[in-house]
Amino acid sequence: MLNEAQIAGWVKRWQKRLSLDDWRIDVKIVRRWQLPKGTVANIHWSFPRKQATIKVLDSIDSTLPKSDIVRDSELSVVHELIHLSMAKLPLDSNNTELEEEAVKKISAALLALDKSEEK
Ligand SMILES: [Zn+2]
Repeated sequence: MLNEAQIAGWVKRWQKRLSLDDWRIDVKIVRRWQLPKGTVANIHWSFPRKQATIKVLDSIDSTLPKSDIVRDSELSVVHELIHLSMAKLPLDSNNTELEEEAVKKISAALLALDKSEEK
């Protein structure tokens, strides 16, 4: 259902919007055991190489209704890219839930704005 080309397309579009063009960002669709428990995506990056990899859960393993998977996966991509854009901030590693909360709100707002503009 989801494919890497589609996800790479989202990455390209949102990368540009978030001014992350100087990064090389790869996309991988992975099974649930390749992600931390309870997550649907994650990102790893290397600052010196300006290289990042976003892993997105294979739709086979999704617990969401089929109709929600595409939008939720795009939301995950935006979410992970916002983490990347904040990666240089002096964030408090003992309070990662505060960062997580902010990233969730910003990504949801951006995606909602994007979808409302498409109409
Ligand atoms: Zn997050």
